[in-house]
Amino acid sequence: MTKILLLSDIHANLAALEAVLSHAEAGGSFDEVWSLGDAIGYGPQPNECLERVRGLGALAVAGNHEQAALRRISMGEFNPYARSAAQWTASVLTPDSVSYVESMPLKARSNSFMVVHGSPRDPVWEYLSDSRTVSENLPYLDTQHCANGHTHIPAVFKAGESRPVLVRPADGEQVALDSEHCFVNPGSVGQPRDGNPQACYAVLDVENATAVFCRVSYPVEETQSLMEAVGLPSVLIARLSRGF
Ligand code: ZN
Repeated sequence: MTKILLLSDIHANLAALEAVLSHAEAGGSFDEVWSLGDAIGYGPQPNECLERVRGLGALAVAGNHEQAALRRISMGEFNPYARSAAQWTASVLTPDSVSYVESMPLKARSNSFMVVHGSPRDPVWEYLSDSRTVSENLPYLDTQHCANGHTHIPAVFKAGESRPVLVRPADGEQVALDSEHCFVNPGSVGQPRDGNPQACYAVLDVENATAVFCRVSYPVEETQSLMEAVGLPSVLIARLSRGF
């Protein structure tokens, strides 16, 4: 029975990542870990988070923040706060972190899933946040299902013959992946944006075709003080308390 822990948008928030890992481990074992991009950016501990993800042997794809840290996309594409955090991140990454980030593909395939940060059509930037965009992405999906992040909001889009249907899973909810194509987004570990500051993750059960979604409290102030100490923008510090 293959169980896969889905982590996305960790955003260098080690306190949130550790809380998620403890919660997930307490909930049962998992065979694989997938990191759906943006393990870094915004938060204060990029090297520590990369080391942790690497240590888990995760299948890790790159997101826009990894691409920015490697200067593969222009920092000008970011809003001023994200840009300032991206510049700080790029300046503190160790050579080990840089080579790990360089090794991340933009797309991977495993267990009937395509694994991307944004979308199958544009893994770096596109947000899969509405039915129309999901429909437009179906021709680019060469696997049955898709695991993606980037929106920072937990969601499943069920796509088949008709218009894709959005499911917004509640904490603890198990969603059946019972459509021809499902797009599973676990939400963000390190910077949730649905008004709930608790860290997000999901566990896929490949054989039973289900995904369970979870929320976990973590010491937000710990991350916030570290952000303050290194001079990250106050807007980014404040948003963690509100989960927005
Ligand atoms: Zn992100």
